[in-house]
Amino acid sequence: MQSYYVWTVGCQMNRADSERLESALGQLGLSRGQSARDADVIVLNSCVVRESAEDRVVGMLTHLKPVKQRAPDKVLALMGCMVAPRKDTLAERFPYVDVFMQPQQYDPLIELLGERLGVDPEGCVGPLSATPDVATYIPIIHGCDKFCSFCIIPYRRGREVSRTIEDVANEATHLARRGVKEVTLLGQNVDSYGHDLEGSVHLGSLLAAVNDVEGLERVRFLTSHPNDMSDDIIGAVADLDKVCEHINLPFQAGDDQILADMRRGYTNAEYRDKIARIRERIPGVSLATDLIVGFCGESERQFERTAELVRDIRFDKVHAAAYSTRPGTIAARLMEDDVPADEKKRRLGIIEEIQQSVATRINARLLGTTQQVLVEGRRKGRWFGRNRNDKLVFFDHEADLEGKLADIEIQRTGPWSLQGALAESAR
Ligand code: SF4
Repeated sequence: MQSYYVWTVGCQMNRADSERLESALGQLGLSRGQSARDADVIVLNSCVVRESAEDRVVGMLTHLKPVKQRAPDKVLALMGCMVAPRKDTLAERFPYVDVFMQPQQYDPLIELLGERLGVDPEGCVGPLSATPDVATYIPIIHGCDKFCSFCIIPYRRGREVSRTIEDVANEATHLARRGVKEVTLLGQNVDSYGHDLEGSVHLGSLLAAVNDVEGLERVRFLTSHPNDMSDDIIGAVADLDKVCEHINLPFQAGDDQILADMRRGYTNAEYRDKIARIRERIPGVSLATDLIVGFCGESERQFERTAELVRDIRFDKVHAAAYSTRPGTIAARLMEDDVPADEKKRRLGIIEEIQQSVATRINARLLGTTQQVLVEGRRKGRWFGRNRNDKLVFFDHEADLEGKLADIEIQRTGPWSLQGALAESAR
């Protein structure tokens, strides 16, 4: 039997795309291989959101060149955001790559393999994996219409297109029947779900439909935009029992001029108001955010406003990145990447230090409490899962608890994870 290996970098949307592709490859009769070097079909699912991600993809392509040259029968495919809609120089730079596929466009590879293996590829790309994880992803809206000045996504994933509620609910039902307990509804801007559909459909109505799916225990969604996070969505999180109290709301920068230059469409004060509304309506909600340091023209004082917001809001999790110019974006065309690399690194270090201390204190409050954890599997010999607030929890137990909801008494806390043991009452 032939084998495949899918290597993925980037966001959860890329991970979801890879899962779908793996499912299709499985339906073509291929088995999952252990490494790129040994597999007959190698797929690199790429990301170009940051320069560092793109560098990793180029590194992997370079590493695989001699592998492919020694075994020309292997199929090497490059997929994801590195592949532009228009013809570019990729095929000239990497002539040993057999197939180039834009995000979610699996057909060229599936057709090629269908021909080689003599299998009809019709219907192979479906949502169903034979053995889906306990917690998995469902893309619900593709693309993004926002065109933030630093971001390449709208150029690579196109304009927003929502799947219907029925389509998403059917997929969630199939997944639940196969043992999935938690789904995360995905979109680059998930809060704008439904605006392109008939009727007054929004993310709140979709959450209500998925909340009704029998067998599912939890529902999450990623990633939000402050301008599209409506009261309807906040209300759905507050009222629906399976929708977890966790929201990832990127603010990107704390200074109003930088926010305007980024074309984010809100101010520092408006962002703070939104957070206040969320906290008022959803008691106990946990919050995550994404931010960028060292955007074009960012002065020390402007950076301080970002640091201040991180201190004031007290997020549970912060994903901070140093700005890097992405060719083709508005910022690349009109602005100068003028903050030196050392200074970006220093600013990143400050944010990380603040966040480590904030997260240490937030998590310390959980010491001695009992948390309901959905057990996702084993890592380094221990069971792991997350509580409703998306906190990673590790514990030891002899029985197989994968896919179960376990009450875990928290015995140790740190900034990035919690550790505990099965609560007495649950033994
Ligand atoms: S909302 Fe902005 S940052 Fe997010 S994907 Fe769209 S353009 Fe990029």
